[in-house]
Amino acid sequence: MVGANSDILSQSVLVLNAGMIPIEICTVRKAVLDIFRKAAIAVHDGEGRLRSPSISLPIPSIIARVTYNKIPRRDIALNKWNILHRDGYTCAYCRKQYPPADLTIDHIIPRSRWNKLNGDRPNFSFNSWRNVTTACRKCNATKGSHLLSEIGWKLQTAPERPKWLPQLVISRQRAEQLGWLDYCQYNVKLMEQVEAVEG
Ligand SMILES: [Zn+2]
Repeated sequence: MVGANSDILSQSVLVLNAGMIPIEICTVRKAVLDIFRKAAIAVHDGEGRLRSPSISLPIPSIIARVTYNKIPRRDIALNKWNILHRDGYTCAYCRKQYPPADLTIDHIIPRSRWNKLNGDRPNFSFNSWRNVTTACRKCNATKGSHLLSEIGWKLQTAPERPKWLPQLVISRQRAEQLGWLDYCQYNVKLMEQVEAVEG
């Protein structure tokens, strides 16, 4: 399975556990190997077939592990998507919901103030779940380098590390194209559009 197949072999395959819950995304190459090794079964085929002199088989688009029925534990990364998701895409200050592109991450104690806290530093670090929250652009700009107490603002809930978040972020359009949508009910965050997440 080389040559003309190589593009196909690097296409994405949704991997379900034995309980049919999505746990990761792998390549067609890996999926086919897992099927051959009888570690996985094909659940849904994409278009076309993989061909070699000795075999011809449908290109898998979803596979399921035969015996693995857990959801692998992964540390929840402190990044914009996960913070927005934890906060329900809602500005912590004006309590309005916005699309991701209109939301920013606010450091509750800003860097300029943190450095001057000296002995009064809280028992968490500057870049931690406890010191970040979702803010709309307007509120973030208004807050500037103030502490909340200085402008009379309050957080309704203390920001914490989330206990659980969906592990896979997939664009809805892509899930539809690849025939994954029926299996994206759990452990998947479907994004309406792919947007830049850095910043
Ligand atoms: Zn706001």
